[in-house]
Amino acid sequence: MTDCVFCGIVSGDVPSVKVAETASTYAFMDINPANDGHLLVIPKQHSTDLLDIGADDLSAVTLEAQRIARAMVDDAGADGVNLLNCCKAPAWQTVFHFHLHVIPRYADRSVDR
Ligand code: 5GP
Ligand code: ZN
Repeated sequence: MTDCVFCGIVSGDVPSVKVAETASTYAFMDINPANDGHLLVIPKQHSTDLLDIGADDLSAVTLEAQRIARAMVDDAGADGVNLLNCCKAPAWQTVFHFHLHVIPRYADRSVDR
């Protein structure tokens, strides 16, 4: 078993709440959400961070995040969405497998994270 927790999620060794899956991406609920519906989109193939990921995986993950953001607004009642990436520890990256945070926002709720 790999020591990367998100590779463990892709392989099924680490449990996760799956939201969506494509040939090259996996989306699942964040274990410590900043807001209701906060999820993560990752490439199935390991890349460490934004500077490491290849163009094809970056494109696939970004397009999948956009599709999910659109569904949050069009179908799930969100009024806006934050898309976030932390690249390297000084920028708050804590899991070193590339991921995009997709965080729905609601007009009637204050933001504390
Ligand atoms: P980062 O700080 O690297 O940008 O974000 C890492 C995110 O991964 C955090 O929001 C954290 O809650 C989430 N996370 C860490 N470990 C796990 C896990 O085992 N399962 C899930 N679902 N999320 C995780
Ligand atoms: Zn990994």
